[in-house]
Amino acid sequence: MADTGHKKKQKREKPRFGTLSTCIWFLKRGWKTWKRVPLLTLALILLRVGRSLFELFLPPVTVEKVANGAPLSSLFAAVGILAGGLLLTNALIRYIGGNMLYPKIAIRSTIVSDLADKMATTSFPNTMDTVFLRLHSRAENAVGGNSTPGEATWGTMENLLVSITGFIIYLLLLTGAHPVLIGASAVMAAISFFVTRHADGWLDRHQKEWDRAWKNRRYSVGVAKEPRPAKDIRVFSLQGFFKDRADKDTLGQRDLLVRMERARLPGDLLDLLFFFLRNGLAYALLTLMAIRGEITVSEFLLYFGAVTGFSGWVAGILGGISTLRKQCVELSVIRESLSYPEPFVFEGGKPIPEEAKKRAEITFDHVSYRYPGAEEDSLHDVSFTLRSGEKLAVVGLNGAGKTTLVRLLTGLLDPTGGKVTLNGEDIRVYDRREYYRLIAAVFQEVMALAVTVGENVAASAGEIDRERVRACLEKAGLSEFLERLPEGLDTHLTQEVWLDGVGLSGGEAQKLLLARALYKGGAVLALDEPTAALDPIAESEMYRRYAEMTEGRAALYVSHRLASTRFCDRILLLEKGVIAEEGDHESLMAKGGKYAELFAVQKKYYEEGEPA
Ligand code: ATP
Repeated sequence: MADTGHKKKQKREKPRFGTLSTCIWFLKRGWKTWKRVPLLTLALILLRVGRSLFELFLPPVTVEKVANGAPLSSLFAAVGILAGGLLLTNALIRYIGGNMLYPKIAIRSTIVSDLADKMATTSFPNTMDTVFLRLHSRAENAVGGNSTPGEATWGTMENLLVSITGFIIYLLLLTGAHPVLIGASAVMAAISFFVTRHADGWLDRHQKEWDRAWKNRRYSVGVAKEPRPAKDIRVFSLQGFFKDRADKDTLGQRDLLVRMERARLPGDLLDLLFFFLRNGLAYALLTLMAIRGEITVSEFLLYFGAVTGFSGWVAGILGGISTLRKQCVELSVIRESLSYPEPFVFEGGKPIPEEAKKRAEITFDHVSYRYPGAEEDSLHDVSFTLRSGEKLAVVGLNGAGKTTLVRLLTGLLDPTGGKVTLNGEDIRVYDRREYYRLIAAVFQEVMALAVTVGENVAASAGEIDRERVRACLEKAGLSEFLERLPEGLDTHLTQEVWLDGVGLSGGEAQKLLLARALYKGGAVLALDEPTAALDPIAESEMYRRYAEMTEGRAALYVSHRLASTRFCDRILLLEKGVIAEEGDHESLMAKGGKYAELFAVQKKYYEEGEPA
C-alpha cells in the first residue's frame, strides 16, 4: 500500500515550467545552437502541408479535366503541375529531413554537455541532495537518445503544426460538403484518440515497473564485466544468482509487453471500426449529394479525400498536444536540473585578496555541521585556527567527524552553525571557485583518472609543465614507477577507457594524488587519510616527507593512526564531533588523557606487528 501511495504522489508531481514556456525555451536553445533546425522545421511544415494538398487535388482535378473534355495540353499541364509538385515536395521533405538529423543531435548534445557541466560544477552539497540527483538522472534520460524529448520534440512540434495548418485548410475546403461529415469525422477522431490515450496512460502507469526491470536486468547482465566485483562473483559463485535475476526480469518485461498489447487492443479495434464508419458515411452522404446534383464527380473525389485527411489532422492535433505536453514535462526537468539552486556563491562573490594566496589563516568559529536529514550534528561547536605555516593534525576514531571537518575547511560544505573564515572573512562571501584555488587536498577515496599520468598530476588537459610533473612524482616517491611507464608521462592510467592503460596499486595511486597536490601548490593543504592503503610506517614516512615538501604553508593532516601525525605542531583529538583534546604530541601524552590512552593501545599493536 505504501508503494502505491508513493506512486500516486510521484505521478501528481507538477513540472516547474509550463508547456508553452518550455516550448519557447526549447526553440530558443535550438535557435542559439543551430538556427538551421527551427528554420528547416518551418520549411518542412510548409512542404508537408503542400504535399498533402497536391495529393488531395491530383485525382479530382484530373477527373474534372477529363470529364469536361479539356484540351490535352490543359490536362497535361494540370497533372504535370500537381504530380510534379508532389514529387518535388516529397524529394525536398526527404532531403531536408535527412539533413536535419545531425543538427538535431548537435542541439541535444549541447544540453547533454550543460547537464554534465552542472553536475561537475554544482556545489558539493547538491551532489548529496537526493532531489537534485533524481532530477539530474531524469534530465539525463530526457536527452539520452534520438527518440528522447531532447531531440524528438522537434518532430512533435513539426507534426503538430502540420496538423493544425492542415486542419484549418481542410476545414475551409470542406465547408462545401455536408456539415455532418465534418462533425462526424472530428468526433470519431477525438473518441479514437481518447481511447488510445487511455492505453498510453496504462503504459505511463507501468513505466516505472518497466524501467525497474530494465535497470535490474542491465545491472545483472553488466556486473560480470565490472572489474571490481569480479573477485566476489567468483569466490561467492554469484554467476547463477545474477543469471536468475536477469531471466526473471526478462520474463517480467515480456509479461508487461503482453499486458500492454492487451491494453492497446480496444483502441486499435475502435480505430478500425471508425475507419469503416467514417468512410461509409462519407460515401453515403457524398453519393447522395452527387445524385442530387449538389456536387460534381470531381468534388465528390475532393471531399472524400478531404474527409479522410481531416480526421487525420484532428487525430494529429490531439496526439501532438498530448505528446508535446509529456515531452515538455521531461524538458522542464532538464531546465529545473540546470537551474537547480546553488548554495555557494560562484558568481559575483568577492575576489580572494592577493595576500591570502600566500598567507592563509583559516578559522573555525563555533562551527557545527549536521548532514541533511540527520538527527545529530556530525561536528558540534568546533573552534580552532589553522595558521599559515602550521602543521595541524586532526585525529580520532572512525565516525569522529574528521572528514566532515576537512570538507568544511576545503569549502566543500558550509557550516549549519558558526562560520569558517579566511584571514578573518567568512569564506561564504568569496567566489567559491577562487577559494578552491587556494586549496590542495587529497581525500580518502583515492582514484586515478582514466587519462595520462601527466594529466592526472597536472589536473589539466591543456598546457602541462612536464618538468614540474616529473619533479612532483619524484618527490611523492614515484621515481621508479615513472621509469617503468612505457610512454612516460603520456602513459594512460587505468583500463576503464584505454585497454593498454596501466593499473596502479593502492599505494601508487595515493602517491600519484600526493604528486597532484604538490603540483597544484596552494596556500592550504589538507590530507584526509589518503594513506589508508599504506602500512603505518609508510604512512608515517609519507606524512613526514609531505610536511618537508610543503614547508611554510598551512597544512592539515587527518589520520586515525596517532603515530603518523605526532610530528605536527598541534593535534586536535576529535571525539563524537567535538574537540576532546588539543596540544602537541608531548603535551597530550603528558596529560595522560584520551590521546595518551589511544596512543598506547595503537603502539601496542604496532609493536606486536599488527597495524592499527
Ligand atoms: P572515518 O575515520 O571513518 O573516515 P570520520 O571521523 O572521517 O570517520 P565523518 O566521515 O566525518 O567521520 O562522519 C562523522 C559522522 O557523520 C558519522 O556519524 C557519519 O555517519 C556521519 N555522516 C558522514 N557523512 C554523512 C552523510 N552524507 N549523511 C549523513 N551522515 C553522514
